[in-house]
Amino acid sequence: MLVVMSPGATEEEVQAVIDRIESVGGTAHPSRGAELTLIGAIGDADTELRVSELELGALAGVSKIVPILKPYKLAALESRHGIPSVFDIGGAKIGGDNFALIAGPCTVESRDQLLDTAALVKSCGASMLRGGAYKPRTSPYSFQGLGVEGLKLLAEAREQSGLPIVTELMDARDIEPVLEVADLIQVGARNMQNYGLLTELGRAGRPVLLKRGLSATLEEFVMAAEYILKEGNEQVILCERGIRTFETAYRFTLDLMAVPVLKEMTHLPIVIDPSHAAGRRVLVQPLSLAAAAVGADGIIVEVHPEPEAAICDGPQALRSEEFEQYAQAVDQAAQLAGKASFLQTQARSA
Ligand code: PEP
Ligand code: MN
Repeated sequence: MLVVMSPGATEEEVQAVIDRIESVGGTAHPSRGAELTLIGAIGDADTELRVSELELGALAGVSKIVPILKPYKLAALESRHGIPSVFDIGGAKIGGDNFALIAGPCTVESRDQLLDTAALVKSCGASMLRGGAYKPRTSPYSFQGLGVEGLKLLAEAREQSGLPIVTELMDARDIEPVLEVADLIQVGARNMQNYGLLTELGRAGRPVLLKRGLSATLEEFVMAAEYILKEGNEQVILCERGIRTFETAYRFTLDLMAVPVLKEMTHLPIVIDPSHAAGRRVLVQPLSLAAAAVGADGIIVEVHPEPEAAICDGPQALRSEEFEQYAQAVDQAAQLAGKASFLQTQARSA
């Protein structure tokens, strides 16, 4: 259930509610917003029953008690009283009316490739730089990423460009070096239900970009986010990247209906990855425009200075020369859906 505190509730009154919840074995997840403090009271069914018997509504400073009927208690829109979450990822805002364009190569290949791409996407208004150092490849014989060397290059790219870094963590054993550089840690589609990894990331506290599994329903997707939230990490961004359907004319089916439907389900920001869904460059811009227009909070897109020479995913990477026009078109589409212009925000902060 959700305890909604009165606007003027004191810290002592908030603490008293938390203590009562914990006294019966519940976990309290307080969220102190600009106007309201909300406290999620979470536990298994028995604990929830004991919490409900506490009659928290009668405590000083409590405005009301709202039951959360969804199985994803902390991710549910109701748990934030219907208000979408806004996160600040290393200076880049996402969620609410903030749109983030995350761009960069599929994988970190070399110093020049990464630094050139970082400078380019930054100059065209991107809000974050993506690049994998650990790559989930279908074949174990394919390039698996530069690992720690790749992370060092990402650190240099952040230093030079000032862009926050998005990079994938595949294995919890690599979490320490990834935490040194990642502002936003990506969990790949194939790891969406790797609950051990999700729990580790929940404890690490760094913002997470959780990609939808190839065959996951939206409820399974949001329940996976709940594993991270449950550990006290409030900053989870969901990413739709195409799902498996009967269609074979393209790589995956980009589920754009997931955007408005997820927005009914959850307060978490939603990002679209058109690159991995499409697999082909020519589809990337039309899908991006549709994603922005349907209300996505951001896009994560692959860009490469020389796609023909890319080690992986070259056919879907946008070319450097086309990125400026691409960013402008996406900015327009995002504004149609009510977002602030990320190009103007970026120009103001530069
Ligand atoms: C990626 O973003 O580099 C990637 C491998 O994506 P996905 O996990 O969605 O396939
Ligand atoms: Mn890729």
